[in-house]
Amino acid sequence: MRLDLHCHSTASDGALTPTQLVERALERGCRLLSLTDHDCLDGTAEAAARAAQLNLPFFAGVEISVSWRKHTVHIVGLNIDVNNSLLIKGLSQIRQGRVLRAKQMAAELERRLGVKHVFEGAMQFCANPEMIGRTHFARFLVHSGVCKNNAAVFKRYLTEGKVGFVKHEWASLSEALSWILSSGGVAVLAHPARYKMGKSILNQLLDEFMALGGEAIEVISGSHGEEDVRAFTRLARDRSLLASAGSDFHALGEGGRDVGIFAEFAEGLTPVWTKFYP
Ligand code: AMP
Ligand code: MN
Ligand code: MN
Ligand code: MN
Repeated sequence: MRLDLHCHSTASDGALTPTQLVERALERGCRLLSLTDHDCLDGTAEAAARAAQLNLPFFAGVEISVSWRKHTVHIVGLNIDVNNSLLIKGLSQIRQGRVLRAKQMAAELERRLGVKHVFEGAMQFCANPEMIGRTHFARFLVHSGVCKNNAAVFKRYLTEGKVGFVKHEWASLSEALSWILSSGGVAVLAHPARYKMGKSILNQLLDEFMALGGEAIEVISGSHGEEDVRAFTRLARDRSLLASAGSDFHALGEGGRDVGIFAEFAEGLTPVWTKFYP
């Protein structure tokens, strides 16, 4: 079945509006969709309304930025109640640092690159100012001719140790889990292959995640190659985690996966959506 349980809209760092995203998902054959913008629920009402008009089963989601030890990890919440006050308040708190961080990033980039008005430039690529983030900087620097694509911007300027990288303290793992669970959602560890941690640290992360009520892991992801899918299939099976699947789609022409992913898991895995969409 083609579906998508991880994708982004203009409410965070995606390039399609929630309406455009839902329409594209349907055109591409999706039979089930969750919008999972970063730290933000602003797109869900519009997406849910369009999905209802088009008869596309839709569940609200979110992708929460978490600081765990020295790492940033992402926890997706699926089938959340977007009216839950604990969730709303928590997300609003972690969004607050973004503008200040962006100003610091801009100052460093201006100094080192000799490009002017970087903050304002990045903001021009951001439809929701309190969600200003690294992707918007990448779009601006590509647009300005500094780099030829987003991947190059990240590699040269926006990842740990590079000039435009400003460390930030996001939610704690226990906060993210408590917000997701209190709003009735299922917590999913997003794109596990992307974290720069060895197996034993990843297992410690999973120990904590599961002790806090986390139940699922992305096995099929736009960030995963075939080998990653095999490895996380084994891990999900060994640890009795539910399996999730999502493209992590952000924008066309930026090198990532398009919305909609073929989600057929190996035998022995239970799809996470059986918790809310039987
Ligand atoms: P932020 O929350 O502002 O730190 O931005 C994180 C976002 O940057 C992720 O959700 C991705 O969309 C994007 N991102 C992170 N690393 C890369 C990369 N190496 N190449 C392209 N996009 C990236
Ligand atoms: Mn993103
Ligand atoms: Mn992510
Ligand atoms: Mn994502």
